[in-house]
Amino acid sequence: MNTVFKPEKPIRKDKLIVGSPQIVEDDINDLTEVYKSGWWVSGPKTKQLAEEFRKYIGCKYAVPVGSGTFALHLALDVLGIGPRDEVITTPYTFPATTHVIEYVGAKPVFVDIEMGSYNMDPNKIERAITRRTKAIMPIHIVGRPCDMDKITRIAQKYNLSVVEDAAHAVEAFWKRKKIGTISDMTCFSFDVTKNVAGGLGGMVTTNKKKYYDKLVSYSHFGFLQRDFNLPYDTVYPGYKYDISEFCAVLALNSLKRIETNLKIREKLWQTYNKAFKDIPEIVLPNGEDESRHARHLYMILIKFEKLGCNRAEFMEALDKLNIGSRIRFTPIHLHTYYRKKYGFRRGDFPVTEYVSDRVLCLPLSAKLTEEDVKDVINGVTKVIEFYR
Ligand SMILES: *Cc1c(COP(=O)(O)O)cnc(C)c1O
Repeated sequence: MNTVFKPEKPIRKDKLIVGSPQIVEDDINDLTEVYKSGWWVSGPKTKQLAEEFRKYIGCKYAVPVGSGTFALHLALDVLGIGPRDEVITTPYTFPATTHVIEYVGAKPVFVDIEMGSYNMDPNKIERAITRRTKAIMPIHIVGRPCDMDKITRIAQKYNLSVVEDAAHAVEAFWKRKKIGTISDMTCFSFDVTKNVAGGLGGMVTTNKKKYYDKLVSYSHFGFLQRDFNLPYDTVYPGYKYDISEFCAVLALNSLKRIETNLKIREKLWQTYNKAFKDIPEIVLPNGEDESRHARHLYMILIKFEKLGCNRAEFMEALDKLNIGSRIRFTPIHLHTYYRKKYGFRRGDFPVTEYVSDRVLCLPLSAKLTEEDVKDVINGVTKVIEFYR
């Protein structure tokens, strides 16, 4: 019979937190410069961010916005998706993905995820298509790209649009194709926790001029042009979705470090994998194949049924050792709003439920050292041994 885990002392003095940003001295100078310039919105940093991001992705157009959620909402609005339409996505995501479907008055239709990648199961998409289906919204969960060949093929067959939620996947490639160049529109987030961190911010990428023109217009009140010396006119009741120059300069600086940071996280990731691969209660993340994983979150699946504790107790034990951990994600179909509106129940999407009940994200960031990661490994191992 196990008792509660009570360590004599934590593994480390300061607590490791999942999802805190890199603090870089140069950022402070650049923020001061933006402040002094008086260009706090729609200035040179926003323009530069859009151009540098476009080059990094290798797409034709990139439209900067104030958040990843704004990016997703704009994409659906630009496609003209609205009431009586259906959009196919998965319940294993952050609520922003499905909330934007609600914003435009359409209905989210869920497809379960597949074991292993934890991404939308492409073999279940066709079954979910109806006469009302307008788009598919795949999410590259924790940076692991979806099978874009299969998704694109299905979309073409049924004449559907594809909007990718790439909030976790700035650096990712599906096979040899860069994420952000494949679908009608791809949406990125520069939230403080993301791989390109701006505090608040996001981007929509596209290769189609007709979408680009609308994205630019709709993201700023629906103006036809942005020359405010001319009498102005709006062609659509668009939004105030601009990014601030303060966030743009942080995102821009973060983008400059993106490949270096990925290499660091890649190395830490392999250190985790090596340490955990022989622990039978742990299932490693799926990320070793011909595609490029963006290594956004290091997420393990723990078979708690083989341990004498549940996830909350496990996290509490780690916390006592000063090791932070996080749950990602609570299935959308079990959120109160979606349960009430659509009558979803536990059991509706069994793979999503199985996974989301058992996963745990451990600290992963370019600011961590190998020593930090060893502390986490040490902590996880201790707790598993205690409750085994
Ligand atoms: C972070 C996130 C978003 C939303 O991005 P914000 O910039 O926070 O609005 C959307 N989808 C997923 C999967 C996310 O993780």
